[in-house]
Amino acid sequence: MTLPTPGFSFRVDAVDGNARSGELQTPRARIETPAFMPVGTQATVKALTPEEVASTGARIILANTYHLWLRPGAESIAAHGGVVGFMNWPYALLTDSGGYQVFSLAKNRTIDDDGITFRSHIDGSLKRLTPEEAMRVQALLGSDIAMVLDECPPGGAPRPEVEGAMERTTAWAERCLQTKPADGQARFGIVQGGTELDLRLSHLETIAALDFDGVALGGFSVGEPPAQMYALLDRITPQMPKDRPRYLMGVGTPSDLLQALSSGVDLFDCVLPTRNARNGQALTWGGRVNLKQARHRDDESRLDEHCDCSVCAGYSRAYLRHLFKADEMLGPRLLSLHNLHFYAALMRKARAMIRLGELGPWVASTLSEMKERDEVGDPDT
Ligand SMILES: [Zn+2]
Repeated sequence: MTLPTPGFSFRVDAVDGNARSGELQTPRARIETPAFMPVGTQATVKALTPEEVASTGARIILANTYHLWLRPGAESIAAHGGVVGFMNWPYALLTDSGGYQVFSLAKNRTIDDDGITFRSHIDGSLKRLTPEEAMRVQALLGSDIAMVLDECPPGGAPRPEVEGAMERTTAWAERCLQTKPADGQARFGIVQGGTELDLRLSHLETIAALDFDGVALGGFSVGEPPAQMYALLDRITPQMPKDRPRYLMGVGTPSDLLQALSSGVDLFDCVLPTRNARNGQALTWGGRVNLKQARHRDDESRLDEHCDCSVCAGYSRAYLRHLFKADEMLGPRLLSLHNLHFYAALMRKARAMIRLGELGPWVASTLSEMKERDEVGDPDT
């Protein structure tokens, strides 16, 4: 069905339990869902060229509004055709509102009902982020999908604080929708509510009633145990609008993705596969592989025997470990490429299993296989 913004449509092709497999069409790309969006914080998916990112199968990536707004500046990026023109990414792009980074990175921030005042972590200059400014900046960045400005309370925040953040998020969502939409840019609302089921469901009802192209769940994976997040998602996600894409923000591990898509989530993003790659950790069908551990010193086997990426085809674990021990930049590059291939393959397989109606048994066997062989512990142990 068509979404409120012209040029966007979303279709569910198959359902298996609460899980769905379908397709999100934006003006720039056709995205099969469930889908994982690699994170390109500074208009670059760290260590990889856009061609390499696309080779994994990714058709949508995420960029961070806060970083690009402060440097090089949204107007500057707009002059280069937006983020996609600037970085030479030929497919779809989602931008966040900037709010999350203001809370996690900026100095001297104060929040009021109208917006957030803060100092740039780069040059200390005074900045002001309001719902309207977040939409203006994202329009200049030219993303396919813009996120509303929300307030994400810290993990474990007391209930009154969570309720306050919900009320502010609702008011800001309404203000974002009142701004003139940028051409070809869809807008997603964000549901808050911490780990309180009743708050989550009530805020979902409020946000779902607004004219957004998609609905996102914010404020998860902020310190709560994974089992608590899964239990909440099992209750919340099936209540989200069935005819619009559902996006779980900033999550997560392979296990998180399989659990969440089983409850009906369509879109994910997380820095984990690329960040962990730069630290020497590979995510594989056989669980986590820590290449800095001594066990890989003479290991001629491939990184992941079930992966068909060029890294697994061409390089041994011993060589990859050597690159990390010698601090060679090829190590983070190759591992980033593999990890994104693996995340894309995980989503591709999940979509196939949903269409076959065999998702549940496949998720159970995949998770137990990963858990059994997971490498935990420190480097060189
Ligand atoms: Zn691979």
